[in-house]
Formats: sequence, structure tokens, C-alpha cells
Amino acid sequence: MDRSIDRLKADIFARNAGEPEFHQAVAEVLDTLGPVLDRHPEYFELAVIRRLSEPERQIIFRVPWVDDNGHVQINRGYRVEFSSALGPYKGGLRFHPSVNLGIVKFLGFEQIFKNSLTGMPIGGGKGGADFDPRGRSEREIMAFCQSFMSELFRHIGEHTDVPAGDIGVGGREIGYMFGQYKRLTNRFEAGVLTGKGMTWGGSLVRPEATGYGTVLFAQEMLGAAGDDLEGKRVAVSGSGNVAIYAIEKAQSLGAKVVTASDSSGAIHDPDGINLEVLKQLKLVDRGRISEYVDRVGGRSEFLAEPGAIWRVPVDIALPCATQNELDGEAAAVLIENGVRVVAEGANMPCTKAAAERFRAEDGVLFGPAKAANAGGVATSALEMQQNAQRDSWSFEHTETRLTEIMRDIHTRCQETAGEYGKPDDYVLGANIAGFSRVVDAMLAQGVV
Ligand code: NDP
Repeated sequence: MDRSIDRLKADIFARNAGEPEFHQAVAEVLDTLGPVLDRHPEYFELAVIRRLSEPERQIIFRVPWVDDNGHVQINRGYRVEFSSALGPYKGGLRFHPSVNLGIVKFLGFEQIFKNSLTGMPIGGGKGGADFDPRGRSEREIMAFCQSFMSELFRHIGEHTDVPAGDIGVGGREIGYMFGQYKRLTNRFEAGVLTGKGMTWGGSLVRPEATGYGTVLFAQEMLGAAGDDLEGKRVAVSGSGNVAIYAIEKAQSLGAKVVTASDSSGAIHDPDGINLEVLKQLKLVDRGRISEYVDRVGGRSEFLAEPGAIWRVPVDIALPCATQNELDGEAAAVLIENGVRVVAEGANMPCTKAAAERFRAEDGVLFGPAKAANAGGVATSALEMQQNAQRDSWSFEHTETRLTEIMRDIHTRCQETAGEYGKPDDYVLGANIAGFSRVVDAMLAQGVV
């Protein structure tokens, strides 16, 4: 048997041709597993990595719906149920025109290790559709969500597969999908979706959890280096769910956040982002980011050029928008400008070149998405616990749990990386710790 990681990667790439994001996510994990495979050569015979990189189930379906002009629209829906070794498949749904099978597989693959790293009983999955919610009316959004759930409902359940939100899917969309699931099944099965509204089974802190968790993880990384967030200048990208609450938490811990962005460009406000204005603009009015400058004035400016956001000198960078938004060139500029900590709020926002640069740079701490943004899914698991107990916890209690979970993830990464001689390598620590827990469970359950 050829026991080389390169051979394994080549086989997986050939088997999943035309899926560059999936290849990138697989390579990012496999490239760090050499030391584990040296200790456990039996993993090759047991085909552990081949099994993990092949989803347990992939569902692709037609989503027909009628727009406001009476025209029939057709989208493509996906749910990739990757691994149930640790619990029901768990991971969000993304509605964005760029969604395709390769993107859903990259997100689902990442989710296996992220969920494992939380220490909670959740497997990995992901889904979505190539539907663009932008510019659609409320009625169109509801029609789409209902049609999407009319197929998805037969594949999910509180003990089977528990979707949540992601890009383009927030509380509103979860509400429409939950309503349709309830209608089709005639069951109020609260634990089938997470990210629900507070009056019908949602958890306090879930909306904030991914952004808060990312900042808490950055704070842990700084703490391990004897520093904290007080007075630090921070660049956040995005202005959606993750970005907004990352800004909120960073500000509450004394940092000054000076940027935000959306797909049309970025804003730089050297006096610190006015979060009240940003929330009204993005969460309520659903406007474009450039309008922030019109509303706030002062020294704020709009940066139209792609990548300009990463040229603003900062101590901490939190990419919170989308995959591959921060490339090798941007990483070099951030390093030159003195960045100390980079924590990924989005999934795989750093290209391979950017991540490698940050990891190789002495004095820069790099927190990969699997660890840094795991607070969202961890709080989804807390929502499932509350649903199972028919209980709802206070904000303080839930936030304390989130804080403990992020601290535990940080410790797990550091200790595991330390075992392999590189305590500051959070990529190594996150990948090996996440991989080891899921593999133990897989092997105990036999060849299934
Ligand atoms: P939202 O839809 O709430 O926000 C996404 C933000 O990113 C928007 O500001 C959007 O701008 C911007 N964006 C999207 N695509 C692009 C692009 N191609 N170029 C530039 N900006 C873009 O999504 P979330 O905040 O929920 O998700 C953001 C990231 O965090 C994703 O990678 C997601 O997978 C990850 N994540 C989310 C979790 C959650 O709990 N929500 C949990 C863990 C990870 P615009 O409005 O113009 O589209």
C-alpha cells in the first residue's frame, strides 16, 4: 500500500474533479496529519482518510418557486451529510448564487473537524442553494424557503440532521423553513433546526455566538502571549451576522474596530465603527456598505478597490465575510504593517498562500476557522440541549458556556500542537485534535 499523503490527496482530487474549494479544504487538513499517520500507520489500512473524505450521503434536488412576476424559477438545492460518527449531521445552509457541490463539500468537510473540536455530540454536514436572496421580496424569500424545505424535510430530523444558518440564511429564513417543516410533518420538533426565534425554541446568544466566539478565541490567543485586546486596532471584513457581532464583542473588550465590508467594497473609519449605524444599515435596512459613509460622515471613507481593506494597518485581523477573501499578497501587507493576531470568523477566508504566510511568520498568531468560529455551532448544540430539555437558559448562562467552550477549544489546540512540538501552531493543533476525536469514534463503530 502506498502510504503517502500526496498519493491520498491525488486520489481524492481525481475522485472529486472540478471542486477546487473542496480540494483546498482537504489539503489544508491532510498536510498537517503527517505526524499522526506516522504514529498510527494502521490508519492507512483502515482507510480512515478515504472514508472521511467521502460524504456518507449527498442530496441534490430541484427547488421550483414562483417569483412576484408570476414566472417559474428553478434553483438547485444541496445537503451533504458528511459524517455522523459523533452525532447527528450538523452544519448550516447557505443561500448564495456561488453555491455548488464543491463549495458545500468544502464547508461540510471543515464542519466535521470543527464540530469534533467543540467536544460536543455533533457530526458534520452542510447544505444550501444557488438562490440569490438579494433584491427578492419577503414573499419571494418565503416561497423559496418553503419549496426548499418541501424536499429537505424528508432527510432531516433532530436525531438525523440538524441544519442552521450561514451566508444568506438568518433568523427570517430559518423561521420560514421551520414553519414548512412543521406543516409537512405535523410535529413541533424544535431540535430539527437551530438559529430559531426566541419565542419558539431559539437560544439566547445564538445570533451573536460566531462573532463573539471568534473574538473570544483571539483574546485567548493574545492571553497566551501575555497580552489582551484593550486598545488594539482591529480590521473586520463582512457586515453580516458574524462580522457585526465580532465588532460588538471586540468593542466591548476595549478594542477599536476600524473596518467592515460587503461584496461591493469596504469602509474604513479611523475613529472606530459606529455599530448602531452599521446594524441599522445592514440588519434592518439591508442597504449597501457605502451608505455607512453617508450616514456617519466624519473621517470615514469608502474603499472600492478589492483587497484595500487589508491595507489598513491593524494589530488584529478578523476576516468574517467569505472564503478566499484574504490572499497571500494581503497577508504580506498585514504582516508588514505589524499584525499580531489573525482569527478566521468566516470559513476558509484565507487562501492557502495567506494561511501559510501567517503560520510561518514569527510573532503572528493564526487561528484557523475550525477553532476560531466554532462558537456558532457550539451554541447551536446548546440550543439543541435546551430544546431536548424544553428549557431556555438566560443570556448570562449561555454566554458563560460559550466562553468556557472557546477557552476549551483554545486549550485543546495548544495542548495538541504542544504534543507535536509546536504549541503556537493552531492549525496543527485544531486539525489533529479534531481529527483524532472523530477517528476514535469511527473506528469504534466499525466499517460503516
Ligand atoms: P451573512 O450572509 O450574514 O453575511 C455575509 C457577509 O459577507 C455579508 O456582508 C456579505 O456581503 C459578505 N460577502 C458574501 N460574499 C462575499 C463576497 N464574495 N465578497 C465579499 N463579501 C462577501 O453570513 P454570515 O455572517 O453568517 O457568514 C459569514 C461567514 O462566516 C461565512 O464564511 C460562513 O460560512 C461563516 N460562518 C457563519 C456562521 C454563522 O453562525 N452564521 C458559523 C460559522 C461560520 P453582501 O451583503 O454584499 O453579500
